[in-house]
Amino acid sequence: MRQRVTIALATVCRPEFIIADEPTTALDVVVQTGVLAMIREVQREIGASIIFVTHDMAVHANLCDRLGIMYAGRLVEEGPTAAVFRTPRHPYTAHLIASLPRLGDTVPKHGLAGAPPNLADPPAGCRFHPRCPRAMDVCRREAPPMTWLGPGHRAACFAAAPGGAS
Ligand code: SF4
Repeated sequence: MRQRVTIALATVCRPEFIIADEPTTALDVVVQTGVLAMIREVQREIGASIIFVTHDMAVHANLCDRLGIMYAGRLVEEGPTAAVFRTPRHPYTAHLIASLPRLGDTVPKHGLAGAPPNLADPPAGCRFHPRCPRAMDVCRREAPPMTWLGPGHRAACFAAAPGGAS
């Protein structure tokens, strides 16, 4: 109920832009569905753009036109939601999507080795390289630039870039 009240307060002045930071955290699935339906309804009614900040990939998949994936404080992939889910170009995105439970899936899920870096002293080069199964020498030296890889779809990964090892 508090989440609903917060959403109502955030929209009462009919803003053009809303940032919803973890709007469904700690809700059970039924309440979560209700809150997401309410946000969708409000969005339709007032025509606002909404940025959802969430760890819940199901929220991305069901609500968002575009999806941005962050790792260690940096945007590593961004694009149309369907394209990112269909063809993730960054290894971290690919891991997140592969780890989602699916009905009838009997394949065991494996966690990513290692832990997120200390942001006060992040690794040189690509911040994901200590955990990346595709890391190359260049990844340890240089930060990969964001590169366009398809219509509206970009990622920061040497292996995904044209001419890379993907
Ligand atoms: S740049 Fe290298 S380390 Fe970083 S995600 Fe791509 S392949 Fe992995």
